[in-house]
Amino acid sequence: RASIFLQRDHGDREDRQHARLKYVVEEKGIVWTKKTLDGYFGRETDAPRPLPPLKVKDHLGWNDQGNGLFYFGLPVTSGRIRDYGNEKLRTAIREVVTAFKTPLVLMPTEDVLFCDIKNEDKPKIEKIFRDHHVPLKEDHLPVELFAMSCVALPTCGKALAEGERARVPIVSMVADVLKKYNLAQERLSVRITGCPNGCSRPFTGDIGIVGRAPDLYAVFIGGDFEGTRLSSKVADKVKTGDIGKFLDPFFAAFAKERANDNEGFGDFCNRIGIARLQELSAASGVAS
Ligand code: SF4
Repeated sequence: RASIFLQRDHGDREDRQHARLKYVVEEKGIVWTKKTLDGYFGRETDAPRPLPPLKVKDHLGWNDQGNGLFYFGLPVTSGRIRDYGNEKLRTAIREVVTAFKTPLVLMPTEDVLFCDIKNEDKPKIEKIFRDHHVPLKEDHLPVELFAMSCVALPTCGKALAEGERARVPIVSMVADVLKKYNLAQERLSVRITGCPNGCSRPFTGDIGIVGRAPDLYAVFIGGDFEGTRLSSKVADKVKTGDIGKFLDPFFAAFAKERANDNEGFGDFCNRIGIARLQELSAASGVAS
């Protein structure tokens, strides 16, 4: 209630783009925000505590639920549940839910969790997915597992370029370049959108690919896997078919110069700085 009053009295009521509580905190500062919040709250609240570094847990595959039951994370490309030729994803999900009455969780990562599964049912559930040719966690490279895309064309009226329908070819180009530099098992997030509204959060991942016009994407680099840092724009327009070629010099530098195996791609790019990123962008020969 105190937070709502803070926003009611001090939030921007005129400009919708500027109407969120985070702007009040950013512009008024932590000291003012805490003091004002304490006033609404009626007593002094604790000082803000430093947060530990955010770690994003991978919920895919089998996980212990902590109550004697298990949950199973199924990777779903772009969150699109349908039967694709031989790969009967929709049919398999229906069969599992009908047979085992598993509650579902739809994840912000566009994947699906099947919950409340008994230990003895695990092989039966996996068999249903296998029988329907549905790829599981172990069938994907990390870059495929953690990529996300928005729906874009033809569903979204704001789309300037393809999103979901370009995801598979774009991620496959990225994976090919990673393999070239022995980085295929690298955990990094590629996020693709059809316009700068950024619905799949391209501005905070390792690599953001943002639609500018049909067949043209801006590229952002230097966020992090956890999505806690904004990336930098390193190209304004790259053709869809050139995205692998564009990223080649970045991955070459990463393979050669990363500080250690724990340094992620986005962290590396953030460390080497925007001037060097622009050099690598120019070296690709395909960016404008
Ligand atoms: S990022 Fe743009 S194109 Fe994609 S869903 Fe959002 S508004 Fe639509």
